[in-house]
Amino acid sequence: MWIDTHCHLDAHEFGNESVAQAAQARGQGVGMIVIPAVETANFSIVAELAASIDNGSYALGIHPIYVPQAQEDDLRLLRERVAAAMADPRFVALGEIGLDFFIPMLTEPAMREKQIHFFREQLKIAREFGLPVLMHVRRSQDVILKHVRQIAPAGGIAHAFNGSDQQARAYIELGFKLGFGGAMTFTRALQIRRLAAELPLASIVLETDAPDISPAWVHPGRNSPDQIPRIGAVLAALRGMPEEQVAAATSANALAALPRLAAALG
Ligand SMILES: [Zn+2]
Repeated sequence: MWIDTHCHLDAHEFGNESVAQAAQARGQGVGMIVIPAVETANFSIVAELAASIDNGSYALGIHPIYVPQAQEDDLRLLRERVAAAMADPRFVALGEIGLDFFIPMLTEPAMREKQIHFFREQLKIAREFGLPVLMHVRRSQDVILKHVRQIAPAGGIAHAFNGSDQQARAYIELGFKLGFGGAMTFTRALQIRRLAAELPLASIVLETDAPDISPAWVHPGRNSPDQIPRIGAVLAALRGMPEEQVAAATSANALAALPRLAAALG
């Protein structure tokens, strides 16, 4: 079995095909898809979508790209929704949260501060409920490390990891897994491929980030969760291992990072 630890299956790019996409992925051996929320407006949508498919689970959080329009009261609402979701076996993490210092508008001083404020407050919610976090770490690996050292959640995943060897090891030492996906399938992605080949296998989880980060054979088309086995095959080739072994290990790693997945899997 494979697990897609990060898939925006509710994104508008999927139109009304979200449920069919999940079934197609299941047919390819993707036994679980984790659907992160991005703003309070899609909290109910991801919960309902996860409940409507066999292989669904979800996270609740405010994504850094949605921080500009987010309000302080959204944090109160998030905490309330998380408290209620603790009774839902499909609810597995706080996410997607993090920091994005790539998009120019988000790097202006006031917005940088607002992102950090929302990130820290969400880390506190994760810690309060003993939840792992799904983190967006674009151009922000070191700043994120600083904050998770101060407000440590119960582990989680640095998704679409694209940092240095030293940063990778710092996340691993703090108990996080690193998410690898479509970016690893491009032969020119030397650094990501080297990390995927050399990091301890126990630190790696697979993800699509669909509809984004399409693998090389789909690019620039829409990514989808049924690509996970082929992305996993690339990881297996990079490490010189059988695909079945990579599937078993990365699924076990996802369960270790997101313990509530065991209940979601039934
Ligand atoms: Zn995402």
